[in-house]
Amino acid sequence: MSVLVVGTTALDSIKTPKAENPRLLGGSASHAAVAASFFAPTKLLGVVGGDFPAKYLKLYQKHGICLKGLEHVRDGQTFHWSGEYEVNMNNRRTLNTVLGVIEHWSPKLPGDYETTPYVLLANIAPPIQHAVIDQLERPKFIIADTMDLWMNIMLPELLRLLKRVDAFVLNESEAHQLTKEDNVFAAMKKIHKLGPKYIIIKKGSHGAVLSGPNGFFIAPAYPLRKVVDPTGAGDSFVGGMIGYLASAKGDLEKNLRRAIIHGTVTASFCCEGFGVVATTRATRQSIDLRVKELEALARF
Ligand code: AMP
Repeated sequence: MSVLVVGTTALDSIKTPKAENPRLLGGSASHAAVAASFFAPTKLLGVVGGDFPAKYLKLYQKHGICLKGLEHVRDGQTFHWSGEYEVNMNNRRTLNTVLGVIEHWSPKLPGDYETTPYVLLANIAPPIQHAVIDQLERPKFIIADTMDLWMNIMLPELLRLLKRVDAFVLNESEAHQLTKEDNVFAAMKKIHKLGPKYIIIKKGSHGAVLSGPNGFFIAPAYPLRKVVDPTGAGDSFVGGMIGYLASAKGDLEKNLRRAIIHGTVTASFCCEGFGVVATTRATRQSIDLRVKELEALARF
């Protein structure tokens, strides 16, 4: 089955202690759509300006991503994010965000997007996420992602969104910000009360935890020896996850566990290069190989 991904389609300027790379292809939807495309037919919903390079459109196309829902505002500027990593690569600082064409964008789903069964509301302003849900016809499974910014400036819209989605993905510090709980399990209990049946908390290089009606699932992270650029790892995680879910048959909760492992592995490729460079070099075979490695590492 197919996947619809909405989120930012961006140009990212990224600085790490070792290198600096301006105007790479980035954005939550770009990372997530590339990740999902390894597993299922993927439709992208986003907006770019006249400055968006044609080579990035070719890159989406190389992954078979449907671009019918990618709007072009010829006289507008593409969303641009710049960030800088500290030596340990875990701490990141946003240097600048230019909203550009995203600021006044109200998404309009092309006809055949409306019936997409698996929907990923990747990180973007909650009103845009709501506008997409409003246009969907009988979706099977909706996952939402977010970030601290939206908790700071649009909390009521975010809380309303949590009542409209099946699964909610966030990282440890966002879970703490939302619930004031330091303990992820206590935080998850509170977040369930806000609406989502499934919650996935990302713990970076320490893996991820799923909470659902049948309890917890603890997923390890893939043991990477070298991280080049972790930008987009969270988006690749959730993109790989929904892509796998859309491709799998049978019991959802069992599939969700395997989906989290496939998301984890897809995210590990993302960290091995700047932007989407290393993710695009992955193949379904190389992903499956790492999934087997993880299975062997976690079995006891
Ligand atoms: P991640 O490393 O998974 O948290 O995602 C990084 C991506 O998020 C980058 O490619 C950015 O372009 C994108 N991004 C940064 N700020 C925002 C924002 N305010 N809304 C949506 N996407 C953003």
